[in-house]
Amino acid sequence: MSDCLFCKIAAKNIPSKVIYEDEMLIAIEDINPSAPVHVLLIPKKHIASLNDIGDTDKSLLGHIQVIAAQIAKEQKIAKDGYRLVNNCGTMGGQEVMHLHYHLLGGREMLWPPG
Ligand code: AMP
Ligand code: ZN
Repeated sequence: MSDCLFCKIAAKNIPSKVIYEDEMLIAIEDINPSAPVHVLLIPKKHIASLNDIGDTDKSLLGHIQVIAAQIAKEQKIAKDGYRLVNNCGTMGGQEVMHLHYHLLGGREMLWPPG
């Protein structure tokens, strides 16, 4: 989608700090980190939110979790633990309407989240 921030980042039309990339997704450092490790996992396919996924996206969603766990190990947060978050829609706190997951670690997470 031409006017979508994360489509532009995935296409390298906007610079970002890339942690990992393959044919299905890109993982970048969050520009405004909420934790010592704050990585965004962004599918290259434009999907607005978790409300917009379908049966054909099952392998993509599974892939995102496998890669999130791999990045957690590489970022040395796996042993202590971390949080993988999707914000969906306005009440869920989603600001960028292109599906993405936050990988947060390096500090203790609170529950319930705000
Ligand atoms: P959400 O509120 O779940 O939609 O999360 C959007 C996230 O994107 C926020 O944590 C922002 O800090 C992050 N963000 C916004 N613009 C950029 C950018 N240009 N590069 C990296 N992260 C960004
Ligand atoms: Zn997009």
